[in-house]
Amino acid sequence: MQQVKNRLGVIFFPAFDWAISPTHPEREERLLYTMDQLKEEGIFDIPGITEYKPDVATIDDVERVHFCFPDVKSNVTDSHLISAGGTIKAARLIMEKDEDKAFALVRPPGHHAMKVVHGGRGFCNINIEAIMIEYLRDNYGIKKVAIVDTDCHHGDGSQDIYWHDPDTLYISIHQDGRTLYPGSGFTHEIGGPKAKGKTINIPLPPNTSDEGFLYALEHVVLPILEDFKPEIVVNSAGQDNHYTDPITNMNFSATGYATLNKMLDPDLVVLEGGYSIQGALPYVNLGIVLALAGLDYSYVKEPDYDPAKFKMDTKTMDYIKRICETAYNNYFSPPQSDITLEKDGDWIVRDKEIFYDTSYIVEKQKEYLYDCNQCRGVLKIETSSTRVTNCIAIEAPLNCCERCLNIAYMEYEKAKKRAYSHIQFIDRVNKKVLK
Ligand SMILES: [Zn+2]
Ligand SMILES: [Zn+2]
Repeated sequence: MQQVKNRLGVIFFPAFDWAISPTHPEREERLLYTMDQLKEEGIFDIPGITEYKPDVATIDDVERVHFCFPDVKSNVTDSHLISAGGTIKAARLIMEKDEDKAFALVRPPGHHAMKVVHGGRGFCNINIEAIMIEYLRDNYGIKKVAIVDTDCHHGDGSQDIYWHDPDTLYISIHQDGRTLYPGSGFTHEIGGPKAKGKTINIPLPPNTSDEGFLYALEHVVLPILEDFKPEIVVNSAGQDNHYTDPITNMNFSATGYATLNKMLDPDLVVLEGGYSIQGALPYVNLGIVLALAGLDYSYVKEPDYDPAKFKMDTKTMDYIKRICETAYNNYFSPPQSDITLEKDGDWIVRDKEIFYDTSYIVEKQKEYLYDCNQCRGVLKIETSSTRVTNCIAIEAPLNCCERCLNIAYMEYEKAKKRAYSHIQFIDRVNKKVLK
């Protein structure tokens, strides 16, 4: 029997009673074959690998992160709260030193859920990584966190939530947004004015295989992590880069995913997408579990895998190298001037339009960030959607300065006198939410 290098907790929640629709790729049996495979391989008989049940996230856990309109309850099912609870369980396992690493093998996924939630986007309603990270911050005093998102789709929700946060490094490796949902994640997206270079996007061309991914990991992700020095590294592990995935166009393999995890050495792994239920998920998840535990994964091979079919040509590799160079420079010397910055008094303003493709909702936002020179600043968002109109969201972020905390309360008092249909004020300093 092999000896694990790292004790690993696997939190399993397949959500067998939750699906978007019976034929939708995000459906009940997504994790069925994975569990069979892990059991068949005797993974849980290996001393040091333990299966756990998830916790259930509370409304407070969600409201620490999101502004949900009209409220949390009308945007989530029990499955969403258990999936998020699975990530919280993962976080607790490593913080309480019960395990060295933890893998939340849960669904529904979360990385397309943004700061404001009016409904479902890209199969996601609430952002399960962000809920885990903010839980870590409030309960264990963790400050610097890195998310490395290896889902095939750009994690536009995670990017949105951490856009203004200099303490969260968000790196996404994904299929180029010109060729895949959600159509974002370009190299020029590098974070808000107070967090420039803390969002890094590495859009790879369709048909990128192991060689291209691992190049990006070695030449961009690892050197950036070494410089940023996060206390916790989270891998948003989407498995839809696999060559058999039905809704994407990449050529990543199970061994590639395992090698990626070995090199990245994350503390916490959270399952995101991956829709090749039989052809990819069982092998990829097995590979990741073995890599995380520090065990040999070289025998994990898809029955039809032929690496010769996925050899990358020099021209595509050269293109990937150029993308990687830009991404690397975006972190180490982010462009400082921003001519597109619009100001309204002391506030930096952005207009956003968001489409909820899962719920068919359109949202319009005006986002205000208080331009503070002491901290990252108060966030204020006026938002209306085809579902709920005329809402306002205010956030006093963690570690914000005293002046900003006062400004946030002033804005909250002002908002109460106006005719908003819903007000939400997240005061992270005093750990409360006011409505
Ligand atoms: Zn995906
Ligand atoms: Zn401030």
